[in-house]
Amino acid sequence: MSVGFEVLGRNGGARRGRLVTAHGVVDTPVFMPLATTGTVKAMTPEGVAATGARIVLGNTYHLMLRPGAERIAGLGGLHRFMNWPYAILTDSGGFQVMSLAARRTIAEAGVTFRSHLDGSLYELAPERSVAIQHLLGADITMVFDECTPYPTPRETVESSMQLTMRWAERSRRAFIDRPGHGIFGIVQGGIHPDLRLRSAAMAMDIGFDGYAVGGLAIGEGQQTMFAVLDATVPALPEDRPRYLMGAGKPGDLVGAVMRGIDMFDCVLPTRSGRTAQAFTRRGTVNLRNARHAGDPAPLDPECRCPACTGYSRAYLHHLSRAGEILGSMLLTAHNLQYYADLMAAMRTAIETGSLAAFAAAFAEAQEAGRNE
Ligand SMILES: [Zn+2]
Repeated sequence: MSVGFEVLGRNGGARRGRLVTAHGVVDTPVFMPLATTGTVKAMTPEGVAATGARIVLGNTYHLMLRPGAERIAGLGGLHRFMNWPYAILTDSGGFQVMSLAARRTIAEAGVTFRSHLDGSLYELAPERSVAIQHLLGADITMVFDECTPYPTPRETVESSMQLTMRWAERSRRAFIDRPGHGIFGIVQGGIHPDLRLRSAAMAMDIGFDGYAVGGLAIGEGQQTMFAVLDATVPALPEDRPRYLMGAGKPGDLVGAVMRGIDMFDCVLPTRSGRTAQAFTRRGTVNLRNARHAGDPAPLDPECRCPACTGYSRAYLHHLSRAGEILGSMLLTAHNLQYYADLMAAMRTAIETGSLAAFAAAFAEAQEAGRNE
């Protein structure tokens, strides 16, 4: 048995599920905080777990460069290295090689590139990416893929998608099946429904433990992203988890859950926590704004995170203006709590058959916050 997945309930296109990994059970739909370099930035693992998170996302590209996959394996694997006892999904490095690495050369065999840290030369191929993820001890391994930026001409998207599918087959072959561990395929194809459907069919032919939709949330806009999901998700297997990579804003999560997505990751809640931007039940709040300077009220009175239960908006404003580390810590904790609570509320709404009503109330409260 690889990773287990069970759909416990449905509401429209949305699913309430349970993912079973070697490092525990994950209730879906779920948001996975980024632990790119082996840490959720500005958070202790205890703080991450306190938000309810039971899975985080590590990154092949960053960890292979520093401190190195073999070193982490020698120190007992990524779970022990970063003191995170729950599940870890690792990205394959494909996206970061395309977006961060210098002087990259893409060939059928794989990618040659120079590290963005010190310029040293590396090679990453499907087999090596899967081997690195094995060394890290990932519960969920992602296939090595090529991502095209947006916009890209259709012919380029098509040939890139075909390369990605050949790499997917090699990734699947390189993956060593073991209990509680799985490998997910990635559907590419840009904004073109026919390419997406061909990519999905090829991925299903290879056969994976879960299916990701990649190459979205890169500037195409929410409406286009939802249109791609409308075309793609119904073609994916009912009994396997579906993961939308790299999205997104709270409204993206609600819309994608309604379209049958089970798993998400995004840099937004953690990165925004370090730039004084907070997500709340009444929209986005910029705590650097002078109007918070004398406000004794909590950031979000309904939130149970350390920032909202112990501190005023005025204090959070002061910390951000003073550039204090505690400001980043508190706001990251808040944003991750908000994302975790949003996902938990959607899980409950799916169970009670009220997701459409939840989504309407969510949109109304976000809009009301914008006008305050
Ligand atoms: Zn809070």
